[in-house]
Amino acid sequence: MQRVFSGIQPSGVPTLGNYLGAIRNWVPMQDQHECLFCIVDLHAITQFQEPAQLLAQTREMAATLLACGLSPEKCVLFVQSHVPAHAELGWIFNCVARLGWLNRMTQFKDKAGKDREAASSGLYVYPNLMAADILAYKATSVPVGDDQRQHLELANDIAQKFNHDYGTDFFPRIEPFIQGVAARVMSLRDGTKKMSKSDPSDQSRINLNDDADTIALKIRRARTDAEPLPGHLAGLEGRAEARNLVGILAAVTGTLPENVLREHEGQGFGAFKEVLTEALVAHLAPIRKEMLRLLEDEPALDAALRRGAERAEAIANPILAEAKRLVGFLPRR
Ligand code: ATP
Ligand code: MG
Repeated sequence: MQRVFSGIQPSGVPTLGNYLGAIRNWVPMQDQHECLFCIVDLHAITQFQEPAQLLAQTREMAATLLACGLSPEKCVLFVQSHVPAHAELGWIFNCVARLGWLNRMTQFKDKAGKDREAASSGLYVYPNLMAADILAYKATSVPVGDDQRQHLELANDIAQKFNHDYGTDFFPRIEPFIQGVAARVMSLRDGTKKMSKSDPSDQSRINLNDDADTIALKIRRARTDAEPLPGHLAGLEGRAEARNLVGILAAVTGTLPENVLREHEGQGFGAFKEVLTEALVAHLAPIRKEMLRLLEDEPALDAALRRGAERAEAIANPILAEAKRLVGFLPRR
């Protein structure tokens, strides 16, 4: 049995991208592995969050994850800031990672935008904290979307350098598990940008709590081109938006993009979008309903997160203690 760690930021309502690229794949893992799923609020504040919203979004995220099928009996579901080991190990890793490594991270460049000088230093060292999230549990399997591949490589560089500098083999190698069709869902407004819950445009994404009318409207407005659908994948070359919508339909109906194209060859986007809307609504409506139900009982949600944090701490604290000993910190006696 492997130990699996994955995180999601409470930086907004989870999107279809989060669902297809991450959450949906987490559900079956609970039955096969020891899984830790973390709502990473420390990461979320690398970009300013309104405090009241952050709090609400953290509960909303917990409710959504449960609604999607994570079970507090089968996995450890918790909030990052409830377990101080993340921040502590993250600091140690700030001192292990090299500036040159961080300078290569494309997500920082994307998220910082043009005014890089105005980005928070937290955003810059985000990958170090992500390495700590994983290694505080010595997790070896990390299911993430394709957008996190570069950060995982960096986490391995950090683990290796720590081991080398402190003459140990304490931290294991991390393996990404990047899975499935539509491993990267793109923005509905720009097929070259990934769908993100923190994108300023709500029209760029499907949120897991969007109702049927909202989904229909967003899909109707989704950018496309004027050509009909081709019969095979090669015909989607250079048509990022078309490819994205085909990928989404394939993912929610559990088939391959090739099959979607075979079935819809020659169809225009007007008709295709209706099919897509119907499939999305059928898939997402039960999740939305369960999420709203869970949000009605905040004490029960908070209690589930508390139990998760206790279980997470029981694993992370001894690992953190050993990392500190290796670094040479005087133990508190
Ligand atoms: P933010 O915009 O705040 O970074 P996000 O939508 O990128 O939010 P994260 O919390 O950063 O979401 O990532 C949670 C998980 O969702 C990660 O495993 C990430 O790889 C995956 N993920 C995020 N966006 C997509 C996407 N567009 N397609 C597929 N997977 C995605
Ligand atoms: Mg992200």
